[in-house]
Amino acid sequence: MTACPNCGHHQLFLRPFTCEGCRKVGCERCLGMYAYTYPIPGGNAVPHRVCSWACFDRLAKSNLGRGLTLAQAGGYWYFGSYQLRPEAAQRALKIQAETFILAERHEDAARLYESIGMWKEAGETRRLRQRQVVTQVHVDLNDLIAQLRALGLTATYTCPACHSPIPITAQTKPDTLARCAYCGAVILPTDLLQAVTRVVGSR
Ligand SMILES: [Zn+2]
Ligand SMILES: [Zn+2]
Ligand SMILES: [Zn+2]
Repeated sequence: MTACPNCGHHQLFLRPFTCEGCRKVGCERCLGMYAYTYPIPGGNAVPHRVCSWACFDRLAKSNLGRGLTLAQAGGYWYFGSYQLRPEAAQRALKIQAETFILAERHEDAARLYESIGMWKEAGETRRLRQRQVVTQVHVDLNDLIAQLRALGLTATYTCPACHSPIPITAQTKPDTLARCAYCGAVILPTDLLQAVTRVVGSR
């Protein structure tokens, strides 16, 4: 009888396996399969194992970090020649999406989330992108108010909720335009931008 150095499982003719993440030696009981490769086309599948999902995540991160990308073929996800088992693919895709977000590739990340049914994350990623656009608009609004000032113009924006006229003058601080002063409705910076652009643009 031999004992597994990792989990202590006793078995006659215990076959040692290695975690491909941390190189820890264990047995088929404590190291789970995360992928298969087929070195000989049509031949037997060679299983690949890790000791934990934490180890798999580290492995996936380092693979993605050195430029390997996930590819889909025949209903499976592949890391190079490694055909990932469904749970491993799910985790790897999540990590891939996170690296896309870090690289500001929000739409790629959102599509990836959608492909694995993570609708909530897809939506949040797109909203994150929108918030960045809104910040951009805020900056543009500052510029436009400066232009209004230079041209001695004023613009009027009509609140979509209560229809009160909201004046935008050279003295207006962009921050005060976040909500309607009359009814408190949230005003979209993109709408304000349109109202100001119309006046500035008509000159
Ligand atoms: Zn490990
Ligand atoms: Zn073991
Ligand atoms: Zn209002």
